[in-house]
Amino acid sequence: MIDVDYYLPGCAPPPDLIMDAVTAILSGELPPKGSVLAPSKSLCDECDRNDSKPDKIEIKELKRPHLTFMDPEKCFLAEGVICMGPATRAGCGQRCIGANMPCRGCFGPTDGVKDHGAKFLSALASLVDINDPEEMEKLVDSIPDPSGLSYMYSLPTSLLTRKRLEKQKV
Ligand code: SF4
Ligand code: SF4
Repeated sequence: MIDVDYYLPGCAPPPDLIMDAVTAILSGELPPKGSVLAPSKSLCDECDRNDSKPDKIEIKELKRPHLTFMDPEKCFLAEGVICMGPATRAGCGQRCIGANMPCRGCFGPTDGVKDHGAKFLSALASLVDINDPEEMEKLVDSIPDPSGLSYMYSLPTSLLTRKRLEKQKV
């Protein structure tokens, strides 16, 4: 286990966050050890498309980005395209969203979230509006790799991996 002083999120971290981190180090005004040097709100909170969301998102089918028209003004999730914005930390400058691509979570979760992938799957499940078990199975099957998608950047820190490592120690 590596003792980490601070985390700078992103793949790769954006220049303004690097600059903020360097400034904080030079001025000695750093947050407590172990902090993530980025805002703790979610990407949805700062997303330009947030206002396009309807009062209630009701997902009945999921569409893959390369197989559907993606309106550059509309929230991906409201259009049925998986976007990890609700569970992902803000601060990237909406890099993917600005390029009309949904978020894949490279900034990791907001403070206090123990498992980024589980948090996202929970958020997604709360938006699905299907009661029929067969229809639900179809919807799940329409995601080619649900765990790979939800844990694209967070599998090493997931609860599953931590449990496995704990077992190996015993
Ligand atoms: S789900 Fe994605 S597109 Fe929709 S508001 Fe959140 S970050 Fe923006
Ligand atoms: S939109 Fe998501 S995946 Fe893209 S840079 Fe921002 S946090 Fe990373």
